[in-house]
Amino acid sequence: MKDKYGREIDYLRISLTDRCNLRCVYCMEEEGNTFFKDEERLTKDEICKIVSASAKLGIKKIRLTGGEPLVRNDIMELMKGINNIPGIEEIYLTTNGILLEEKVEVLKKAGLKGVNISLDSLKEEMFQKLTRLGDLKKVLSAIDKCLELGIKVKLNTVMIKGMNEDEILDFVNLTLDKDMDVRFIELMPIGVGSKYKGVSNEEIIKLINENYKDIEEVKRNKNGGPATYIKLKDGKGKIGFISAISNCFCEDCNRIRITSEGFLKQCLHFNYGIDLRNLIRSGASEEEILNVIKDNIFNKPEKHLFLEKSKDKELKFMNQIGG
Ligand code: SAM
Ligand code: SF4
Repeated sequence: MKDKYGREIDYLRISLTDRCNLRCVYCMEEEGNTFFKDEERLTKDEICKIVSASAKLGIKKIRLTGGEPLVRNDIMELMKGINNIPGIEEIYLTTNGILLEEKVEVLKKAGLKGVNISLDSLKEEMFQKLTRLGDLKKVLSAIDKCLELGIKVKLNTVMIKGMNEDEILDFVNLTLDKDMDVRFIELMPIGVGSKYKGVSNEEIIKLINENYKDIEEVKRNKNGGPATYIKLKDGKGKIGFISAISNCFCEDCNRIRITSEGFLKQCLHFNYGIDLRNLIRSGASEEEILNVIKDNIFNKPEKHLFLEKSKDKELKFMNQIGG
């Protein structure tokens, strides 16, 4: 369905958990993070109820995220359940890749179409420093396994000043050898993210232009999401830029989000939305759930105001919202 600004909203991002097996410095604290209790998170059946109502309103694409979605034990059943809902055409996953290699084959059978893997460093030591807990080898072998299985891979990377910014060209070079897109995501001032300074995509593009001669523009597809792409002439994959801060893409926004405790968020930046868990647990019918989702889609804010002061600004961390 369309919101009041005429945008077609057909994409739902679902956070399966706020828990994570890593502690990336710009996303979570090293210690003292607070998590929801198991009973506070939506169950598989509750998630499927929401997806089913959303599909009737025109949601076709689902992304499972978190926290780390693969730490959730019922991920396979969830994927199968969502895949069986009429109207759902594509299911994707955003993951840090640590548990992916061992699960991807079964996930593919359950309906997984593609994965976004978050990876911010190709150097063991920096990877450790940025994630605090990660094992780089596991992520690298998960990438190869996905490509082997024909699962579409997009690598998402966040560049931080004074940390991994010397690896920009190493990430660009990955698109020469591997058939996957590498996307640079600008750091957003959300939660602990506001303690760090990101590298703007403008700076990254400048560096790429200084180092490569043959760069091709890739035409922007209106439904292709927030990234703009270029490609190295001999590259197998594309290089993408997601610039929520320096280049607002709100006019093409097609998404809503559900947090792991069942809050429907209309926009990443604002705390607007509705507690669907409470509605479901108080016995609401599918029609009532559908009407509430419909109202929230219709009233999606026109644009984010990351660079302005706003009393309704989202104060949660990314692992709690679902990145
Ligand atoms: N754990 C999974 C992962 O890392 O892919 C899924 C959830 S994570 C919150 C999703 C994405 O959000 C990751 O690519 C991560 O880099 C990104 N992210 C987290 N905090 C961010 C911030 N402050 N600004 C920009 N991206 C952020
Ligand atoms: Fe976990 Fe993803 Fe946040 Fe890293 S970015 S701490 S992997 S939720």
